[in-house]
Amino acid sequence: MPRTDFGPPHYGEMLPPVIKRNYGKWAYHEILKPGVLKHVAESGEEVYTVRVGSARLLSTDTIREICELADKYCDGYVRFTSRHNIEFLLSNKENIEPLIAEVKAKGWPVGGTGTCLSNMVHTQGWIHCHTPATDASGIVKAVMDELYSYFEEAKLPAKLRIALACCLNMCGAVHCSDIAILGIHRTPPRVNHEMLAKVSEIPTVVASCPTGAIRPNPKLKSVDVIEERCMYCGNCYTMSPAMEIMDPENDGISIWVGGKVSNARSAPMFSRLAIPYLPNNPPRWPEVVEAVKHLVEVWATHARKGERMGEWIERIGWESFFKLTGIPFTDKHIDDFIFSVPTFRTTVQFRW
Ligand code: SF4
Ligand code: SF4
Repeated sequence: MPRTDFGPPHYGEMLPPVIKRNYGKWAYHEILKPGVLKHVAESGEEVYTVRVGSARLLSTDTIREICELADKYCDGYVRFTSRHNIEFLLSNKENIEPLIAEVKAKGWPVGGTGTCLSNMVHTQGWIHCHTPATDASGIVKAVMDELYSYFEEAKLPAKLRIALACCLNMCGAVHCSDIAILGIHRTPPRVNHEMLAKVSEIPTVVASCPTGAIRPNPKLKSVDVIEERCMYCGNCYTMSPAMEIMDPENDGISIWVGGKVSNARSAPMFSRLAIPYLPNNPPRWPEVVEAVKHLVEVWATHARKGERMGEWIERIGWESFFKLTGIPFTDKHIDDFIFSVPTFRTTVQFRW
């Protein structure tokens, strides 16, 4: 492979020796207790994983602390999962308990495996991105504070994956998580004609709109937005800073349920709308925390062993889901996208 000076090094170079030796030849794995995995290779060699929750936005000091623990207990072999869990990869079983004791002394939780709630994957939020309709880490902190015990104890019917994306661009896997918190704009972009003429290419701005809601305005050397065609996606703002879409009064949060990536037992599923709108209420977002907690509790009470949120809803039917959760079904739940008609239930057996 040619050497370059950009991009990360190939991951294969950083695997623990035990994984290199047994690459692709693993016989089975088991969960020894929440947060501790044991993988056994065909050769009989073993590797242990200790999974720890992280806050995702980490200071360099915290990363140094993580690296020091990795040096001390597992020859420096540590990784981050796609949901921002820290995983220490140990080849020496004796180091598991001392590592856990030190991790816990720092106030970090150990868990997130099997039928636990894994760490929440989330996006940038107000701290960094330009189009968020809501914050990311602030809400995640508030929700995880409430659901903390589900991370540490395996007391759910199945895996639980919660995600947050602060706008419809969905950098945060909200389409394929059991519960998704999704920031939404609810008003069209406001065009700053003077700025747009100076800073943006009009054809690119027009082409950025998925619903064809943007038309050139040659007189002003700018564009107009046909408001009834706008779906408030914010794509045009990504193209032009003159299409401001953030709206402190109207932006908020929607809650989606039933997505999953796994193809175990049933095919992967996309999440669907459960709650169309909740207000942005920083710093602790009580409405969102309450709604997510309620969904977890209703699912945990009614689902069968091993049944993910989406599988449970498919079994009982969406009508029962709305009944059991007490969430009102409104016109906002009906997909009015032009090509959605073939997906509607239209048989005479369908009653509401
Ligand atoms: S989801 Fe949207 S607002 Fe959030 S980080 Fe991604 S692009 Fe930015
Ligand atoms: S917010 Fe989205 S739908 Fe609305 S004008 Fe911009 S790109 Fe088009």
